[in-house]
Amino acid sequence: MRSAMQRAVGTALRRASSRNYSSGTTPPRKVVVLGAAGGIGQPLSLLMKLNPYVSQLSLYDIAGTPGVAADVSHVNTRAEVAGYMGEEQLGKALENADLVIIPAGVPRKPGMTRDDLFNINAGIVKNLCTAIAKYCPGALVNMISNPVNSTVPIASEVFKKAGTYDEKKLFGVTTLDVVRAKTFYAGKAGVPVEGVDVPVVGGHAGITILPLFSQATPKANSTLSEEDIKALTKRTQDGGTEVVEAKAGKGSATLSMAYAGALFANACLKGLNGEPNVVECSYVQSTVTELPFFASKVRLGKNGLEEVLGLGSLSEFEQQGLESLKPELKASIEKGIKFASEN
Ligand code: NAD
Repeated sequence: MRSAMQRAVGTALRRASSRNYSSGTTPPRKVVVLGAAGGIGQPLSLLMKLNPYVSQLSLYDIAGTPGVAADVSHVNTRAEVAGYMGEEQLGKALENADLVIIPAGVPRKPGMTRDDLFNINAGIVKNLCTAIAKYCPGALVNMISNPVNSTVPIASEVFKKAGTYDEKKLFGVTTLDVVRAKTFYAGKAGVPVEGVDVPVVGGHAGITILPLFSQATPKANSTLSEEDIKALTKRTQDGGTEVVEAKAGKGSATLSMAYAGALFANACLKGLNGEPNVVECSYVQSTVTELPFFASKVRLGKNGLEEVLGLGSLSEFEQQGLESLKPELKASIEKGIKFASEN
């Protein structure tokens, strides 16, 4: 009997993948998880092992990867699993990668903001991206390590310095914000969550997370009040803190993040394989606003990012939210660029 988790994952992956691939009918794809033994890394590695697009799954961490790799490798799906541990094995883990997912770093503890994590995670991301530039410069990169608002600009600077930067290949993973916005909206609007769509734009910390509930579909059964929309917006922005506090010092969102990371990686793989109309929200190099990086809907394709889509029409509340997030997002971007240039 399949467990509830297997059924949920199976349904999500089937929905995410419009064609029913079996091994041999989809091109070989090597996916690497950097930080694979962590709270996010472990369930994310399992979900990528269940992904029918993945032929090789490379799991890297500074410790603990042989156990995770052995465990995950027993799952009877197509992907061949290999575990790598320690910096001397990083090159081997990365070579020939199509997609590198980075959940390496330290998570938020109670009372910490994402920016408190900055110095530790910025250094980790910088080192990992230096290795990506060397060993798999053509791979798509999905950045999960926080603060995403700064780690994506850091990665771009590292790649620029190495001469390998391609803005079509670097993505900040904001899918958890979208997943939360959809769940919270469905509950409030009284509509089935499976069919809900809510774009989330801006960045990935506090007020920089801007869910566009005015564009949510399907429409609520009875119109949501201004207060409802404000409360939904705040809950989406504080979703990470809700989990940090509930876990009472034992970590931050890991299971829902792994699910969100697997959804976004799946979308990237669908794009690489040439499937049409793959659209997700992501934090990317952008001209949608005056800021150099911004999250919005993007179209994914054979080269990674095919098109950054616009914001659509915003309510007055969302327009205000957009203006108020810009200074904070700008400062986080500048902080990342400064870190990369000084280190
Ligand atoms: P964790 O501490 O459980 O796991 C992190 C893993 O990274 C550990 O296994 C650790 O050994 C590994 N690691 C540390 N340095 C490394 C290095 N140089 N190379 C490779 N691996 C290294 O933390 P977690 O809860 O899994 O969170 C990981 C990151 O994801 C944190 O930065 C967290 O803030 C972030 N996060 C992002 C989102 C998002 O929506 N983007 C959501 C939740 C958490």
